[in-house]
Amino acid sequence: MIADAAPHGHARAARWPRFTTHWGRALAVALCAPALVTLLAFTSVRTVVPGLLYVVAIILAAAVGGRIGGLVAVAASAYPFFHYFASRYDQTQLTAEGATALAVFLVAALFGSEVLGRERAARERAERAVRESESALDAATRLQNVADALSAARTPQEVLDAVLTEGVRAAGARGGLIATLSDDGEWLEVIASRGYDLRYIEPFRRFPVSGNFPLSEAVRTGEGIFIGSEAERDARYPELVGRSQPGHGLVCLPLVGQRGTIGGLVFSFSTDQGFTAAHRALKIALGRQAALALERARFSAAEQTLRERLAFLGEATALLTSSLELDRTLERLTELAVPLLADWCTISMLVEETGEIEQLVVAHQDPERKRWAEAVREHSRTVRIDDEFDLTAQVIRTGEPVFLREVPQELLDEAAQRDPNVAEALEHIAIHSAVTVPLRSGERSFGALTLVTESRQLEDSEFELAQELAARAAIAVENARLYREAERRAEAALALAYVGDGVVLLDSDGRVRYWNAAAAAITGVRESEALGRRPAEVVRAWEELTRLAELADAAAPERARPVTVPMETASGERWVAVAGVAFDEGVVYALRDVSDERALEQARSDFVATASHELRTPLAAVYGAARTLRRTDIEIPVEQRDRFLEIIVSETERLTAIVSQILLAGQLEEGHVQVTTAATDLAPLVESALDSARLRTPEQIDLRLDQNGARAVALADEDKLRQVLVNLLDNAIKYSPDGGDVVVELAGGQGRVLLTVRDRGLGIPPGEQERIFEKFYRLDPALTRGVGGSGLGLFISRELVARMGGSLTVRSQPGEGAAFVVDLPAA
Ligand code: ADP
Repeated sequence: MIADAAPHGHARAARWPRFTTHWGRALAVALCAPALVTLLAFTSVRTVVPGLLYVVAIILAAAVGGRIGGLVAVAASAYPFFHYFASRYDQTQLTAEGATALAVFLVAALFGSEVLGRERAARERAERAVRESESALDAATRLQNVADALSAARTPQEVLDAVLTEGVRAAGARGGLIATLSDDGEWLEVIASRGYDLRYIEPFRRFPVSGNFPLSEAVRTGEGIFIGSEAERDARYPELVGRSQPGHGLVCLPLVGQRGTIGGLVFSFSTDQGFTAAHRALKIALGRQAALALERARFSAAEQTLRERLAFLGEATALLTSSLELDRTLERLTELAVPLLADWCTISMLVEETGEIEQLVVAHQDPERKRWAEAVREHSRTVRIDDEFDLTAQVIRTGEPVFLREVPQELLDEAAQRDPNVAEALEHIAIHSAVTVPLRSGERSFGALTLVTESRQLEDSEFELAQELAARAAIAVENARLYREAERRAEAALALAYVGDGVVLLDSDGRVRYWNAAAAAITGVRESEALGRRPAEVVRAWEELTRLAELADAAAPERARPVTVPMETASGERWVAVAGVAFDEGVVYALRDVSDERALEQARSDFVATASHELRTPLAAVYGAARTLRRTDIEIPVEQRDRFLEIIVSETERLTAIVSQILLAGQLEEGHVQVTTAATDLAPLVESALDSARLRTPEQIDLRLDQNGARAVALADEDKLRQVLVNLLDNAIKYSPDGGDVVVELAGGQGRVLLTVRDRGLGIPPGEQERIFEKFYRLDPALTRGVGGSGLGLFISRELVARMGGSLTVRSQPGEGAAFVVDLPAA
């Protein structure tokens, strides 16, 4: 094969000997053949015989030596013919016979040489044609072999292998090299070589297309460069002198695919070459084939990668949308990106509140390295968003991605200098190529995704893919955030829905956005009526309410000072405390129905007034009586002295009663009162209570028991029930200023015993019938009717009855009296 590669030199060497032997042989035949005829012809006296023999000899000479050989033979034949045969007749005259013979000789020479020459030329042509077709067949076979090998090659690597084995063999070369054009078209990068000393290849791994190198020139011009010898190479490309492997012939071909030049191909030969057109054509065809195959393989590899990436993106999208558990999702996403896209993948997030950048996840194929990277991250200094050196911070700040096809060493050195942890990390990892893309939601960047390769270079398409991935990750993060927010809001709304305070949220337009159940209860306006309306449209007192309430700022909501205002509602006037907080999107009001607290407050202050009055009256009486008794200047008659003592005793009792009521109310509230129930016949109890009540009853009031023959034995604490009864009778008498009967009725049945104290007195308005049982609550605190009391009697009574397992209720028509019913379990 290698010998075949130099057919030109070989052919020239072979032609010279053939030329000389041919002419020697031709001359020998042209001279010897007539000589032989002359010798043979002496036997014959007829001229025609030697004449014909000479013709044969001349044709033989013409056959061997061509036209010149034939003419030499004519010359060599003419003399003997005339001298020995034709001259027998006349030596001086050329007879017609002689002339004919000469003409025949000449014609034989010319014709013979012509015919034979043509025949030989035709034969030679045929031979050449055969030879050429053989060499064409050989070239075609070689090309076919290459084509077969190339068509079997699927991946770019397989194509490179096929070109460097079959292609190199077909070209008859010693070695081959393939370089591809960089994306920017400025550089040639050697991607495969065979048969070279790598020491010489190394400096030329990457060289400029604009350089004065044979392959650069071939790529630049799109024409093959054929260099026959090392000397020629050194002369044409002085830059290569001493830097290139010593060699001989060299072919540099551009690899031109369907879409233009994709690189270059070099064949090196072990001998000097004189490239024939056929050889050149073969190499060019090889180059073309290689280019198309490489382009096709790259295309299908790119297509394959694209498909893989689409599948990857699909998988990533499915993954990202499958769960709202953000951290785990992001972790799985980075695991998906490694090692398909890169060796390292990290996702960082900006913590808005602190301005710090937190690295959420880091992934590496090797779990050991991943753990190590996580440990490094733990100890790394905190990066803030305004860090001017940090790449991630920069990307999040600007929202612009950064693609470092080849991370400059200075950058790594600087980073290592700033942070010893980075320096340590860089001892373990090589960073070749890096991409950092922002995670964005609208105009806002809230994080970044970084891909790092340790040895290979990231491509433009991978940069695009990283952006696609980041866009999807951003959506997932945003979704998770929105979900969390929605969940938080839902929880908050749930809490607000059940909170006892009314919560009203107005948007910036002043329309109701939220109106919880308590707000509905306080205002008496349903949520459905209020939503979307201005509150003043549905709550009459709203203007008044909010005019007084001073809005606190969202930054310090605790400063909101509630104001308490009365509000007309369906269930009468209620007192409502309102506090409002204004924030960006509107105002939130908290409403609290403080009617009860207010009433209690009111009752308390009323009690102070009443109690002081209630206490002062007996005290004044006691004081007056005692002072009178102490007088020595006057003589007090015995009866009067007794009356004074009587006053002192009874008023002191009254005082004691009030004080013990207060004490008892306190004990009841604290749960310190013990009640012991037993079967108690109520009739004797009522009788004795009525007897003692009669002593302090004005005349116009009649007290009696109405038992209707019913048996009334209840489960009760006798002492406590007496207390209740005394209180009810006292009230009945107190609040019947105009007299009237006070009747105690006893009734029973169905496991219950009912004791009713009925009077014909003032009665109680319906709105107050529950409230009179509250502590300190009195209908007439100002004592307009001059009737005193602590407001504790009914509270105590109800509490005691309740502890006995019964209930105390009231039925009343104002002006027509009241009926207090004690309902107890029957014994
Ligand atoms: P007080 O010491 O004021 O009597 P109570 O708790 O016993 O306290 O009663 C509370 C209020 O209920 C009284 O102030 C009175 O206005 C009203 N009340 C109680 N009993 C009657 C009744 N029989 N008739 C009308 N009002 C009554």
